Amino acid sequence: MSTRNSHYDVVIAGARCAGAATAMLLARQGARVLLLDRSRYGTDTLSTHALMRGGVLQLHRWGLLPNVIAAGTPALRSATFHLPGADTAVEIKPRHGVDALYAPRRTGGVTGITGRAGAARLEVGADLVVGADGRRSAVARHAGAGAAHVAPASSGVIYRYFRGVAADGYHWYFTPGSAAGVIPTNDGLACVFAATSAENLRRELDGGAGAGLRRVLARAAPGLADRLEHHGAAGPPRAFPGLPGYLRDAAGPGWALVGDAGYFKDPITAHGITDALRDAEILARVVTSRGPGAVARYQAERDELSLRLFRVTGRIAAFDWTADEIGGHLLELNAAMAEEIAAMTHGHWGAARRPLDPRRLELASA
Ligand SMILES: Cc1cc2nc3c(=O)[nH]c(=O)nc-3n(C[C@H](O)[C@H](O)[C@H](O)COP(=O)(O)OP(=O)(O)OC[C@H]3O[C@@H](n4cnc5c(N)ncnc54)[C@H](O)[C@@H]3O)c2cc1C
Repeated sequence: MSTRNSHYDVVIAGARCAGAATAMLLARQGARVLLLDRSRYGTDTLSTHALMRGGVLQLHRWGLLPNVIAAGTPALRSATFHLPGADTAVEIKPRHGVDALYAPRRTGGVTGITGRAGAARLEVGADLVVGADGRRSAVARHAGAGAAHVAPASSGVIYRYFRGVAADGYHWYFTPGSAAGVIPTNDGLACVFAATSAENLRRELDGGAGAGLRRVLARAAPGLADRLEHHGAAGPPRAFPGLPGYLRDAAGPGWALVGDAGYFKDPITAHGITDALRDAEILARVVTSRGPGAVARYQAERDELSLRLFRVTGRIAAFDWTADEIGGHLLELNAAMAEEIAAMTHGHWGAARRPLDPRRLELASA
């Protein structure tokens, strides 16, 4: 087996939303970046994919939104909250150049990057190693990143794609003990999910994921459950058994973590991709403007922007709220998201939209 020795400014392990975004932003600023992933291009992952305004805003500012739209991703112009006794539809108002939300599937090819695979062993030096390698991050483990905050409980989620579920926006349903949602996406499909506490989900999965999904949906959103009886499912149901959220140390000498590698919060608030794109930009900005030694600044900024959303997500995921309390939690979530958008649209934010020089970015299978 041959060995390749090389040196890069930054090596990034993990090439999904956190890693690919960080690599693109650094390479656009002229850094030489190696992006590694052990999965193949275009493979799916265990996650739904509702983007919130912050995530869409990042794609817009980076010049990537036209590609998402051109792939046939439907524009979502409202979010409807179905709470016990009251439905509230919130229109997506045009702001900061974003007039709709999107929930793109993550299957399909990646363009604009040169690929390389082979049996050659890589020995790569770098000024900075970035762990964008997800929830089981090896980089976090090897760096000894501790968790400063851990959520007390977690939800469990089952989701499945259905055809012909007409919806022009997100629909979120909350009732004591369970929740559900409809996320319209590409190819005329809608991702329908049902969530409950991780403990309850284990029981619901006893008769299989399909039956579990129907049972939790029947409690969280009975009207939706009835409608789905008349729609064909596209593909099998998928279940996420739950994992308590954490906010790990994000950086140390020579290393940094972005996305789920450093910060995972319960999927119930559908905000992980948005925050991964947010943190990619903070890290790329800090490294570009102050050098790889300044990663402690990245950690400080990430923590400041994350804690409020992390805490309210934990409260919603605990599924111990009453019908009266959930409205307050959702208002707090909305306030945390507004604070995040305000930070993103303020002053120093906004990565330059330079064209990507492919020589700056190399992608390899690990
Ligand atoms: C059930 C569920 C539903 C969700 N729904 C939503 C939603 O609707 N909206 C939303 O915004 N967020 C959602 N999330 C959260 C979202 O999935 C994550 O926050 C997001 O995918 C994190 O992206 P990432 O790039 O950090 O990690 P990942 O997507 O996990 O990517 C990590 C990559 O690293 C690679 N890798 C791992 N180890 C190595 C290694 N040693 N060497 C090389 N490569 C390696 C993997 O192959 C993988 O490609 C959901 C999560 C779950 C579990």
